[in-house]
Amino acid sequence: MREAQLIGGCLCGDIRYEITPPALFVSQCCCKDCQKATGTGHTTIIGIHKDQLRLHGTPATFTNTGETGGKVTRHFCGRCAGRLYTSGDLPGDHIMVQAGSLDDPGQVSPQNIIYVKDRVHWDKLDDTLPQFEGLPDRVL
Ligand SMILES: [Zn+2]
Ligand SMILES: [Zn+2]
Repeated sequence: MREAQLIGGCLCGDIRYEITPPALFVSQCCCKDCQKATGTGHTTIIGIHKDQLRLHGTPATFTNTGETGGKVTRHFCGRCAGRLYTSGDLPGDHIMVQAGSLDDPGQVSPQNIIYVKDRVHWDKLDDTLPQFEGLPDRVL
């Protein structure tokens, strides 16, 4: 069976996208930057090669330096502030799409939890998933 295409966009609908499957990984990220950027305990990210994303619209961006020293750029809607995806030095040709921006976020299932060292006690996640203190040596 062919994996279904993943379709999503921001809250206001100005920016839409399609992802050509397959996703390379799906992770729950509990890092401090994801907490600040989303205002929640963690974010759910879908790792893909950048060529797998077809974007309609132009996101606003914010770049800072990640914990590992590389530049991290977060892409979001300039109108509604809906988070869309993250790119940067470290993932290289890979980007991480916010699973919550999918029209049907239930299409993907997280495979692991990363940056558990920053995890907040009230943020309940599936503890049967493999957990990594920071970034796994190989997420891609
Ligand atoms: Zn929007
Ligand atoms: Zn994170």
